[in-house]
Amino acid sequence: MTFSVHGQAVSRGIAIGRAVLVASSRIDVAHYFITDEQVPEELMRLRNARDGVVAEIARVQQTLKEAAGMEAHHELNALLDVHCMLLQDTQLQEGVKHWVQDRHYNAEWALTSQLEQILRHRRGVASPVPGTGLAGSAELTASHEDPLVLVAHDLSPADMLQFKQSVFTGFVTDVGGKTSHTAIVARSMDIPAVVGARTASQLVQQDDWVIIDGDAGVVIVNPSPIVLAEYGFKQRQGEVERERLSRIKNTPAVTLDGERIELLANIEQPQDTTPALSVSAVGVGLFRTEFLFMGRDGKLPDEEEQFQAYRAAVEGMHGLPVTIRTVDVGADKPLDRNVRDDHLNPALGLRAIRWSLSEPAMFLTQLRAVLRAAAHGKVNLLIPMLAHTSEILQVKAMLAKAREQLDERAVVHGTVRVGAMIEIPAAALAVKMFLKHFDFLSIGTNDLIQYTLAIDRVDENVAHLYDPLHPAVLQLVAGTIAECRAQGKGVSVCGEMAGDVTMTRLLLGLGLRSFSMHPSQILPVKQQILRADTRKLRAWAQEVVQSDDPAALLAD
Ligand code: PEP
Ligand code: MG
Repeated sequence: MTFSVHGQAVSRGIAIGRAVLVASSRIDVAHYFITDEQVPEELMRLRNARDGVVAEIARVQQTLKEAAGMEAHHELNALLDVHCMLLQDTQLQEGVKHWVQDRHYNAEWALTSQLEQILRHRRGVASPVPGTGLAGSAELTASHEDPLVLVAHDLSPADMLQFKQSVFTGFVTDVGGKTSHTAIVARSMDIPAVVGARTASQLVQQDDWVIIDGDAGVVIVNPSPIVLAEYGFKQRQGEVERERLSRIKNTPAVTLDGERIELLANIEQPQDTTPALSVSAVGVGLFRTEFLFMGRDGKLPDEEEQFQAYRAAVEGMHGLPVTIRTVDVGADKPLDRNVRDDHLNPALGLRAIRWSLSEPAMFLTQLRAVLRAAAHGKVNLLIPMLAHTSEILQVKAMLAKAREQLDERAVVHGTVRVGAMIEIPAAALAVKMFLKHFDFLSIGTNDLIQYTLAIDRVDENVAHLYDPLHPAVLQLVAGTIAECRAQGKGVSVCGEMAGDVTMTRLLLGLGLRSFSMHPSQILPVKQQILRADTRKLRAWAQEVVQSDDPAALLAD
């Protein structure tokens, strides 16, 4: 039966594939396809692993028996018996074999897929027996060459990094908002995704054919051949459009009236500089360094490891500037996906610079690594989530201390321009205070909207109230840009607003000349810039900001 599920549109484009249901805790298992020839070897690997564990259990049981007599460990022994039985369970074995033989999954992926299947059965969620193919349409038959899409209840930002190396062409999650970090990473990977689809992971079954419409935020399950053909057409149209846009890759981003606009890239890892350069980004406007810190079981990267990563980004940009933001963990970016922040309001808690200042040794380590990388190219240092003068002064003192420490060790380091993110309304309102201390500002609209409207950016229940066009948000953005321009200080927007083509004309009209966004958004935004005349946009932009209904004016 065909049905659709609605969620938040996250990342443009259409993905069509068979559903793979994965629990968040299992995404870090390697997912790759094996070849026909590798099937026997992979089955052997599975058998050896199983036999190894069974032998190990037998050894433990023998040791227990010898050590204290079996009675003393009766419960433990029974538990080990159960483990042995589970390992030899035919449903498990046959299922795993199916995933390897028919779908060409690697052994680890096959095992977790089958465990997932069994668990769903036990929980009473209907799931087809593997290999029965598809509900819905006779034309669609399952083959190991089919593209796959991932369906999960939740994916953490750390999961998303694993996702980068996986075989999936799109994903759907039950939870999450448009600017949750999971969504942001999806956008940076330029893969179609829908988040906040509520019960999708319960409704969709393993192997269902799924269309993910990342533009509309819709997931269509078991589509009819006609719908499938229609989306196949849309998918090809998208490809043609991308191809067309690539023609402006080397065109300078200059408006009709000759204003040169800086288009920078947001990156999460040093290797993201490659896609950034492929669309001619003129620098990195936001390197979210927290991704180097996540999913490491609390073992944070040391100075050398961080230095190598920052230097790789700097060298990767071949002399173009790189803006390195100090670590912004907390809220929806936990260091460890298994350790959730159980404070009542994590977004208002110890995150970003607040966390850094509470961990001075960690912060100094990061500052030293950034200063060392600055000896290899142009580096800007960016501080997230500042609100208070006392925090600003502490950051400056820490930076001076980091320099001193490097001097004492006689380690080569460079100079950095220092900027602050404006992402708390208090900071936007006190922008003059910030400008006394910083070389440049960068507006983080994702958090600025969250904190101005009191809308948790990750909560799908209030996602409909998350509004970049709320007059209060626009006034804070406009005020910050205007003050920076008046004082001749650099200002950019690095939140999702910068990559939203429906906002480009407005931001240009407000005087913004520097935009930082995911590489995949640079060419669509550049296209808007090439068609814009900032002289004509100025008065209109002020009108939009003063209006009670900016969205209506923007649509005109
Ligand atoms: C922002 O808040 O707009 C921003 C760019 O930072 P992040 O999305 O990483 O919180
Ligand atoms: Mg932010």
